[in-house]
Amino acid sequence: MKGVLKLGKISGIRIEVHWTFTLILIWVVFLDIQRGGTANTAFMNIVLILLLFFCVILHELGHALAARRFNINTRKITLLPIGGVASLEKMPEKPAQELIVALAGPAVNVVIAMLLYLIVPMQSYFGLDADSLVQLLSAPTLETLLFYLFIANIMLVVFNLIPAFPMDGGRVFRALLSFTMDRAKATEIAARLGQALAVVFFILGLFFNPFLILIALFIFLGAYSENQMVKQKSLVEGHLVKEALLTNITLLNPKNSLADVFKIILAGTEKDFVVAENGTIVGILQHKEIINNAKNGSLEVGAVMNTNFSTISEMEELNEFFVKVNATRQRFFPVTDYNNNILGAIDVTNVSEFLMLKTQLIS
Ligand SMILES: [Zn+2]
Repeated sequence: MKGVLKLGKISGIRIEVHWTFTLILIWVVFLDIQRGGTANTAFMNIVLILLLFFCVILHELGHALAARRFNINTRKITLLPIGGVASLEKMPEKPAQELIVALAGPAVNVVIAMLLYLIVPMQSYFGLDADSLVQLLSAPTLETLLFYLFIANIMLVVFNLIPAFPMDGGRVFRALLSFTMDRAKATEIAARLGQALAVVFFILGLFFNPFLILIALFIFLGAYSENQMVKQKSLVEGHLVKEALLTNITLLNPKNSLADVFKIILAGTEKDFVVAENGTIVGILQHKEIINNAKNGSLEVGAVMNTNFSTISEMEELNEFFVKVNATRQRFFPVTDYNNNILGAIDVTNVSEFLMLKTQLIS
């Protein structure tokens, strides 16, 4: 994602903040000024937001470290104004493991809330009448700050456990369903409930808090795309890369000029190319790189090609193809046999075509 500030790494996982997050800080200060706050209260609100987002990072780390126990890596954790996102390579498919990974995040906030409960003298807050409570809570002290942080962590737990897939509660719901039915069916039910709740959030957002609208969109699109992905995965289950293989491809040589490639692109439907020399794959040339160099027809393919690429074996499961697309962001892979000889290539378009042919055959 563009426009992110890299904060560093925690146990090998990149932590990033999206630039829109600064809008929250500005918004909080703005609200405070409107309410006639002082520099002190504004400062306290900013510290509160920063502490809260630190708790969100810990929440995401909870997911990431639980996933690591099942050998699933996390590329990065991104903070957005609406919360954190841990980019796990994939979700575990065993229901019990998904349940653990989904619950690990909220569990972190439960622990933080419990610790704060021990530190902050809660009785002094809960025993008060409304007026004194308001007065106490508007005092910019460390104790009030921690009290708010306590409440915020409880809210994080409650909010995340709403069964709106793909939020944590929705994942818990899907995992529970998966114990009794197949995963694709469970995902579909969870995604439907998620989208229904998203509509409710959206309507509430119109009346109460615009953030709910953002969250509603996030849930709605997330539920849709994950449902599609799981459906696709269940369709390719048991099929191999070689079944969706592109065999009719043009092999480029590093010495070819880009002008030659432009001609090939215009003459046919090929967009990405494998570059080989003496029968060995030395690179790939993807559509984006070709377009970026549209004015440099005299350049050689070898100067522009991507040499940091992955290949995939013909005997690999098609599911593995999706895992690789997710992990590498490469959309086009040279396909090899067990001797590393080139057989062809595979890309997302061709796999979708394979799926379309297959679903037509079924229905
Ligand atoms: Zn979570």
